[in-house]
Amino acid sequence: AGAQPAPGAPEPPGREAAPSGRSAALRARMEERLLAARFRYINQQLYTSTSREAAQLFQSDPEAFEIYHRGFAQQVGRWPENPVHRIVRYLRRRPASLVVADFGCGDCKIASSIKNKVHSFDLVPLSPLVTVCDMAKVPLAAESVDVAVFCLALMGTNLQEILEEANRVLKQGGTLMVAEVASRFEDVRAFMNAMAQLGFKSISKVCPQVCPVLLGTGCTGPPVAR
Ligand code: SAH
Repeated sequence: AGAQPAPGAPEPPGREAAPSGRSAALRARMEERLLAARFRYINQQLYTSTSREAAQLFQSDPEAFEIYHRGFAQQVGRWPENPVHRIVRYLRRRPASLVVADFGCGDCKIASSIKNKVHSFDLVPLSPLVTVCDMAKVPLAAESVDVAVFCLALMGTNLQEILEEANRVLKQGGTLMVAEVASRFEDVRAFMNAMAQLGFKSISKVCPQVCPVLLGTGCTGPPVAR
């Protein structure tokens, strides 16, 4: 309300819009910045809490989820490439008979883009394709999927528990795919070593050139003793 341009506010270059048009544009810009700030705040909360706390956050504040997803789409839209598209291209090159589990699926871009059977997990259903659950405990039998995907979704501080869950549901020789913002890693090599210890072999960085996102795959070996 009352979003008049502040005195001395810079005019958008080359715009001859009526004052109401200018104030609408200013208001839209301010709203976009506010949304981006709220997204960053919620995103930071997700990366600094356990997956259970994340579930509580979205249950107690459904608006937070809606803001998070609008902000997420806005941010990813500015990147040169959305990693989920690269994952979809990769999966399309592999047999459609492979069963996929999408951990933290968001709006289910993977399930809606490929023919494979895809189990889509998230805390809140943005689409009817979503199974609502905490990714640390998904309703799948052991060794039931061929590919497990975490696309910008490996956020909980209980990372080890989450990756162990992925390992549990993956068949032997299955593929783990992780796409994550590179700056989130303190030490990529340490992360890869930890993955190897969790039972993922032949770990590789697939496309480190897709700035700012790292995409890695790991292949599950024999079950690890826990
Ligand atoms: N993979 C999607 C969405 C990424 S946004 C894409 O690339 O488009 C991250 C998603 O992870 C959000 O939808 C968020 O709700 C979900 N998420 C975060 N913590 C989760 C948890 N503990 N269990 C299930 N989903 C979770």
